[in-house]
Amino acid sequence: MAAPSLDEFALIAEYFAPLAANFPGALRLRDDAALVDVPEGQRVVVTTDALVAGVHFFPDDPPGSIARKALRVNISDVAAMGGRPTAILLAACFPDDVTDPWLREFAAGLAEDCREYGISLIGGDTVATPGPLSLTVTALGLVAAGRELRRDRARVGDRVYVSGSIGDAALGLEVLKGGLALPQAAADPLVARYRLPQPRLALGWRLAGLAHAAMDVSDGLYSDLGHICRASGLGATIDADRIPLSAAARMAIRERPDLMTLVLSGGDDYELLFTAPATADPIISTLAGQLGLELTPIGSIIETEGLSVVNLPKGAAVTGGFMHFRGGK
Ligand SMILES: [Mg+2]
Repeated sequence: MAAPSLDEFALIAEYFAPLAANFPGALRLRDDAALVDVPEGQRVVVTTDALVAGVHFFPDDPPGSIARKALRVNISDVAAMGGRPTAILLAACFPDDVTDPWLREFAAGLAEDCREYGISLIGGDTVATPGPLSLTVTALGLVAAGRELRRDRARVGDRVYVSGSIGDAALGLEVLKGGLALPQAAADPLVARYRLPQPRLALGWRLAGLAHAAMDVSDGLYSDLGHICRASGLGATIDADRIPLSAAARMAIRERPDLMTLVLSGGDDYELLFTAPATADPIISTLAGQLGLELTPIGSIIETEGLSVVNLPKGAAVTGGFMHFRGGK
């Protein structure tokens, strides 16, 4: 490490070892690896995602929110498989200009989320790099064996559901890039959703054993539903009018209907996209009430491969080799 005053071991002891305190198998981050117990009848869900400055976040984003985003996009993947996250590992490549105050804020953000989600940091690595800041988080979680949620289990006739609202993060990124001017009251919540995803953990584990197929929306609704269809060997039809939008997104789209392109194809929503049989409707609406989270049916799974979007507003477009779409107004 060039700029920070601590060497690697002191840095780990100072900033990261406290995040391992509740996980005995993490061995206080003093050994080469961690030891993880798996309770009988459960499976480990494990996933990893890399975030690079200038690609997945802005280099001058607040350090705490960079750390939290790196953690959250990973535990979102655990939730999407019906798992409860238990631990993360972090491999961080810090550029030479990282300073002590920056690191302190970064570690504080990570600690805050570890507390919020009841997870521990159980290992990782820190290195100095001449390149941009790069963070690779690996998340571990547990799911009851046989209740895992996978992409390839959609069935013909399933309803396609999404949680929360779609498109906010992509619109927030557009605001940050200067491509979308909105009143502050609309811009702020969109930018917040881009910077700090809200992984749908409670929903994920409640859907385990209930939904047929599930994943989180990270690449964009259209592309991610395409993943479920491809993996399941089926198709889907969705109604653009039924895609749940936040008040801020609705305001933006009223002015510029072409922004529906971003809603459908932009990423970073970290909502859950899942399919379930129509017989599960009452349970799902009860679940939505219990969680205080909108769960909206936006279409259905069909036998014919490909993805159709009806009621796509004029000026909005979606591209993708595998899919075709129809409709329009
Ligand atoms: Mg994912």
